[in-house]
Amino acid sequence: MTKLQAIRGMHDILPSQVHTWQWVEEHIRLLMAGYGYEEIRMPIVEATELFARAVGDDTDIVSKEMYTFDDRNGDSLTLRPEATASCVRAAIQHGLLHNQTQRLWYTGPMFRHERPQKGRTRQFYQLGAEAFGYPGPDIDVEILAMTRMFLQRLGVIKKVRLEINTLGLPAERTEYRAALLDYFAQHEEKLDEDSKNRLTTNPLRVLDSKNPDLKDLIENAPSILDYLSDESKNHFDELCAMLDALKFEYTINPRLVRGLDYYTHMVFEWITDELGAQGTVCAGGRYDELVELIGGKATPGVGFSLGLERLIELLEQEEAVEVNRPHICIVPLQEDAKAAALQLAEMLRAYLPDLHVHNILGGGGARSLFKRADKSGAQYALIIGDEELQQNAVTIKPLREDLEQSRWRIDEELFEFLAQQFDFKQE
Ligand code: ATP
Ligand code: MG
Repeated sequence: MTKLQAIRGMHDILPSQVHTWQWVEEHIRLLMAGYGYEEIRMPIVEATELFARAVGDDTDIVSKEMYTFDDRNGDSLTLRPEATASCVRAAIQHGLLHNQTQRLWYTGPMFRHERPQKGRTRQFYQLGAEAFGYPGPDIDVEILAMTRMFLQRLGVIKKVRLEINTLGLPAERTEYRAALLDYFAQHEEKLDEDSKNRLTTNPLRVLDSKNPDLKDLIENAPSILDYLSDESKNHFDELCAMLDALKFEYTINPRLVRGLDYYTHMVFEWITDELGAQGTVCAGGRYDELVELIGGKATPGVGFSLGLERLIELLEQEEAVEVNRPHICIVPLQEDAKAAALQLAEMLRAYLPDLHVHNILGGGGARSLFKRADKSGAQYALIIGDEELQQNAVTIKPLREDLEQSRWRIDEELFEFLAQQFDFKQE
């Protein structure tokens, strides 16, 4: 038989890694509540047309990376490659944008058929947030502050730097696009195949090339900042002034464009040098024309998405996050103590919902049972042997400290003792 394995580029997150994920997820909930964002959960599959329209037909994502298939009705569906489009679709569909502002967040898996490598997988998780109905730039700054706060709380802020840029409005890009075309046409022999293609579909995207050979060429390309209207420039200047007031450290990178079509005005990336070539941990920007593009009433929007695998890889270079160990384990010393052990465990869980109980099930000799009890990491073993069974009692043996064991009847006093040990409230 062939060995069945996970799909290339799609990874299991094992129990040993999950506690780090949960720790990050707790921080996410706390952060979002602190900034007044509400969670929204969208389906993982959408009509292909949504992404074609929102992300842009000639982006890398839509032209080569999507998992697209016909379902049994013959409708073309796509596993979401990103979720801003889904979020906008949901907000329009449920009337969340009518004469009101919205601050929304989500997490979940995204799918892109890219070449798997360090920092790049085919299923990956993003945290995303979107704010609708705010013209900015005040909300843009709040979004940046929120991402900064998150990176600070997780202890990785020293490993990342912030780059920002403005793309102005699409109408203002026509002249800039022509200037870029001109410039790159003069250096066509230096371009790779990919960039030559981008040049014909969207010359701005040549700036987004990850090819190190093009670095100098890109750095010397015309700057978009020379082509913007006064209005767009003012929007950006105002944003920078507020960033300065909040003591942000950032650089303006006039060649920063993003891989998606829908951005207007501010775009940004939090970048690290510690993950090799895949250095963008978090990215986002403003998209004032997207809602209308997807079929809603014109509504300004701004948001970000953050790659959780890349973030967690940064974290893992730090000290390990504390593991979730059981508080107590229960050791039934012989066959006929098993039912009593199950009963005791249920009773404890009912009285003390915060208590983590690890029942040493599966039977075995005393040595093996105690070995497993020790390995569980619990503070105390609650042992049920012959005598205990007869007395409706347990013996409590401290596993982490060199203290006497003690015998307890199974009643209120035992529950109170445990509640005190771990500082729990009783039901
Ligand atoms: P990149 O330039 O690295 O391809 P992108 O511009 O395609 O990124 P976005 O669509 O902006 O990325 O996604 C936001 C974030 O999601 C990225 O900054 C990154 O952290 C994460 N991300 C994107 N694609 C992948 C992937 N294939 N594997 C893991 N994380 C990813
Ligand atoms: Mg990409």
